Amino acid sequence: MGEKYVAYPWIGCGDCEVCKADDEHLCSPLSTKNIGINIPGGYGEYVLVENEKYLFSAGDTPDNLAGSYACRGLTAYSALKRANPSKGDNSLVIVSAGGLGLLALQIAKAAYDINPIIVDIDDEKLAAAKEAGASEVINSTHEDAAQKLMELTGGGARYIVDYVGAAASVNFGYNLLRRGGIYVVTGLFGGSINIQLPLLTVGARQLVGTYVGSLAEMRELMELVRNGKIQPAKVESRPIDQINETLQDMKKGSLPGLVSVHHE
Ligand SMILES: [Zn+2]
Repeated sequence: MGEKYVAYPWIGCGDCEVCKADDEHLCSPLSTKNIGINIPGGYGEYVLVENEKYLFSAGDTPDNLAGSYACRGLTAYSALKRANPSKGDNSLVIVSAGGLGLLALQIAKAAYDINPIIVDIDDEKLAAAKEAGASEVINSTHEDAAQKLMELTGGGARYIVDYVGAAASVNFGYNLLRRGGIYVVTGLFGGSINIQLPLLTVGARQLVGTYVGSLAEMRELMELVRNGKIQPAKVESRPIDQINETLQDMKKGSLPGLVSVHHE
């Protein structure tokens, strides 16, 4: 009693092979039971969670921030895990100096002891990333961007994690992988790209998509959060009756940053 928990919402059917392999977040869209997507409860004052294994202590995390770790935090963490960089390898490249990119930067520092290279198209955001601990920052719209990244990574990147997922960002980064390199896409900006298949083969490259994260990853992430390894992001808290305006603002791209809604 009295303890605060974050609910893991990516609950699967529990019966299929994927769920039995502890990848509930990848359960079929036809059978999955994601809270707030397939079953109600995302904005509710109360939510029914079918098993306590989906609950994680929030520790001292502010109420209006804690829930975001089950989505954006988990997404940032799981994508980094997929790239699987070596501890202390500062040649890790993170695409995005936005909210998700900066969160990934903190997780890279906390979980991998890495000060990554950050790529973005906005100089102001890149300056913030440098301040937050990026070892180097690159504006991908600058003419010498590709060359700079090649130099910083010693001839091509081993790991790139892309939190934008736009045609432009993947086109920029994918071709800068070294042989055997991995490009992880988790952003949902959209678009499509052309891939030269012989280069995929000869370069032994991996182009990988990730979506949110597993229950085990959620457990690891929340441990980092409770141990104070992730600096709390700024959140604007709005009452639940402003939810429709807030979603409209998000659609228009006019949200100031992270916004949570609360019940009075
Ligand atoms: Zn399932």
